[in-house]
Amino acid sequence: MKNNKGFTTTTLHSDLQKPIEHGSLHKPVHTSVAYGYQQAEEIAQVFQGKQAGFSYGRASNPTTAALAEKVTKMEDGIATVCFATGMSAISTTLLALLRAGDHFVASSFLFGNTNSFFNTLSQFGVEVSFVDATQAENVRAALQPNTKMVFVETIGNPATQVADLMGIGEVCEQHDILYIVDNTLTSGYLFRPKVAKAGLVINSLTKVMGGHGMALGGAVTATGLYDWSSYDNLYDIYKKGAKEMWGVTQILKKGLRDMGGTLPPDGAHHLALGMETIGLRLERSCANALTLARFFAKHEMVNKVFYPGIESHNEHQRATDLFRHYGFLMSVELNEGINRFDFLNALSLVVTASNLGDNRTLAIPVADTIYYEMGAERRASMGIADGMIRFSVGIEDIDDLIEDFLTALALSATT
Ligand SMILES: *Cc1c(COP(=O)(O)O)cnc(C)c1O
Repeated sequence: MKNNKGFTTTTLHSDLQKPIEHGSLHKPVHTSVAYGYQQAEEIAQVFQGKQAGFSYGRASNPTTAALAEKVTKMEDGIATVCFATGMSAISTTLLALLRAGDHFVASSFLFGNTNSFFNTLSQFGVEVSFVDATQAENVRAALQPNTKMVFVETIGNPATQVADLMGIGEVCEQHDILYIVDNTLTSGYLFRPKVAKAGLVINSLTKVMGGHGMALGGAVTATGLYDWSSYDNLYDIYKKGAKEMWGVTQILKKGLRDMGGTLPPDGAHHLALGMETIGLRLERSCANALTLARFFAKHEMVNKVFYPGIESHNEHQRATDLFRHYGFLMSVELNEGINRFDFLNALSLVVTASNLGDNRTLAIPVADTIYYEMGAERRASMGIADGMIRFSVGIEDIDDLIEDFLTALALSATT
């Protein structure tokens, strides 16, 4: 298949580019942990990376390899390593590529557990500077001689800041610094970090990639743009073959193989099924989210709406230029005096739950849950009010969602 086909066509048919067992249309779930070879020389070749093949399930598996191929296509990359969770993809990548004495720059608008893990890294002698990544100049100002990488997310959660993705890519290129973009909130369908010159792209597969919320997973994709010959921390044994592959080889060998955050084959199967329809689902959920954002912006009980699709959003123009749509994540700040729990309890369709990118619309009170550990002071400094509710907008019929919200707002006004 030529690679000029559309996103959904390419994703859907990626398995069929290689013959599948018995003419099966889906890559089967291979549960075997070990793989037997009739010629002993062959297993040696596989271990030494001189021949493609499978050796032991912790490092790779045919079902997971087929999934990795799909993600590579989605991100227009050259190789992908899959992990048990998105956090495993992030922690393993950084542990495989950083050493004590290194420094890196990260966005201050990060997924809570990523932020927490980066703080843990400081206990191991790796220093991190958190900066407002909506302006590339802040990243440039934080660079040090020992800076190894810059890590940002496309859209911040829960306040939907859009990083200066292109500007930061320029800064990283000028300084030969590895640029890592967590693309979970956009996925390759809405935005490809490769266009911003990212070297590595991270996706939590748990979220919109699966869409069903029935399997955890994560992935790191190499775009092929980073010149690994200027990266200090690589072991000589991984500096063989194509240069573009060195970093991802070390992530696979020193990271996945040694640390063991392997994606199980049945999880890979569930995620692959979800990924077939990601384009269709995002068309619907992003359209729903835009309609809802406009609805909330006009409602007198809502103080503020956080969504890149509305004109008053600080990075509205940037989001318009970069993304196919504005995403499925939206937050609102209810007016003071409205009890957020009453509002959530009055919703009959929208579920109070902590996940993103699910087919169902989910809501969560931010200050009481995902940002609770941070404390009131830090929340206030980040502009997170007690009345903030985060929504992950799903694919329901929009009239039903609007009716649910109208009813819940009306009911919480009277209590
Ligand atoms: C959820 C999420 C992660 C972590 O993914 P898990 O699969 O839950 O471990 C990382 N980054 C972002 C932006 C996320 O939303």
